[in-house]
Amino acid sequence: MATQPSEAARSEAALRDQRSQFHPFTAITDLMADGPTVMSSGSGVRVTDVDGKEYLDGMAGLWCVNLGYGRKEITEAIARQSERLSFFHTFNGMSTDVVAECAEELLKRAPVPMSRVFFGASGSDANETQLKLIWYYNNLRGKAEKKKIIARWNAYHGSGVATASLTGLPGMHTLFDLPKGPIIHVSAPYHYRNAPEGMSERDYSRHLAKELEDTIEREGADTIAAFFAEAVMGAGGLIPPPEGYFDEIGPILKKHDILLVADEVVSGFGRLGTYWGSQAYGYEPDLITSAKGVTSGYFPMSVCFISPKVWDVIEGEAAKAGLFGHGYTYSAHPVGAAAALAALKLIDDLKVVDNVADVGPYMLRQLRDRLGQHAHVGDIRGKGLMIGIELMKDRGTKETFPMANRTGRQILKASAARGLITRALGDTLVFAPPLVINRAEVDELVDKFALAVQDVLPA
Ligand code: PLP
Repeated sequence: MATQPSEAARSEAALRDQRSQFHPFTAITDLMADGPTVMSSGSGVRVTDVDGKEYLDGMAGLWCVNLGYGRKEITEAIARQSERLSFFHTFNGMSTDVVAECAEELLKRAPVPMSRVFFGASGSDANETQLKLIWYYNNLRGKAEKKKIIARWNAYHGSGVATASLTGLPGMHTLFDLPKGPIIHVSAPYHYRNAPEGMSERDYSRHLAKELEDTIEREGADTIAAFFAEAVMGAGGLIPPPEGYFDEIGPILKKHDILLVADEVVSGFGRLGTYWGSQAYGYEPDLITSAKGVTSGYFPMSVCFISPKVWDVIEGEAAKAGLFGHGYTYSAHPVGAAAALAALKLIDDLKVVDNVADVGPYMLRQLRDRLGQHAHVGDIRGKGLMIGIELMKDRGTKETFPMANRTGRQILKASAARGLITRALGDTLVFAPPLVINRAEVDELVDKFALAVQDVLPA
């Protein structure tokens, strides 16, 4: 189903964009063939493009506009701060009142006691900070050999040179000549696709824990510094962990003095129906990376949370280390801090986490009721408001559609034609709508999506 206007009918904005912008994560051939979809306004869970077409945003932008579009509380806080003090930095011991308040409010909300927060502007830069902090920490405590990092295949941790290496998606490695660095990938906890035939989730978790333990043994625990994990894998295919996964992994990491870094860039601030993803699965991180939901996408901001275990070493060795030689111009931007303070207050006032705990399981049920028996729907999975629908040629054998069919993309386009934004990760379609979505809006989303699936794959 065609959704984009022909080249002659493209809006001025679309043509301007197409001839001048180099788009991230975009196939240039698709952009040239279809033209960009150019948005111009948003309100609540909806956005409107330059041609006046309205869409229900099933992805909250890029899993970030958790409080929905057009929130005056945040836009006014941004405007006030921009007028009062549009920028000041935090290098060389400088700070701003609003940043100090924001740091304190964030620490209050941490899932486990944390000592400090370090600010950046994106999830990628925050994970780069975590990597450097981990190496810095081990150097300071005299463990210069303990530097390797374990991540998982299908993980997404960012687009920087180190964080793209950490990311477990081969498509982000090929052609970029990334330095491999001291990064080791272990299996994704992808029960539906990768578990041996007939193995229960619980046993698969034990199986993956054994793989981790074997990897640590092979490499030597005294060479491994940290393990990075998203609670639910997002961009790598919307993969919730199998039952008991973090219960199995956590003690192994502790035993070998390996830091657990919770990448909560997507899962933080309520997306899984708990304030933090780690709370949804009951594990205790040593470091937390967050971004996106902290300002609900209204301002670029990221936050690394640093536990006492790591901070005490850094502070204790500070005299020896001298200047902490890391930071970004926009670390702790005061306008970002004002946006974050307004967003944090709204998350509390609107009881957003409770809403996700109610609406998330409702949405999963509705999708399963509507599409669970469809011949080409293999798996519908998720936690809170992170939900994926994996399509395939044969749900019995789990045979995939030929790549060339681009089934996921066809469904994405059919959804857009019906006024719904989803995201295609291969043939897994994902939803991560604003966390303020209500049941009626979920019904609309599910209806539009089910019709779009039917458009492309008549059952
Ligand atoms: N970590 C996770 C889990 C993410 O999903 C993302 C982005 O989607 C990032 C890190 C990188 O964040 P950013 O795109 O802000 O650099």
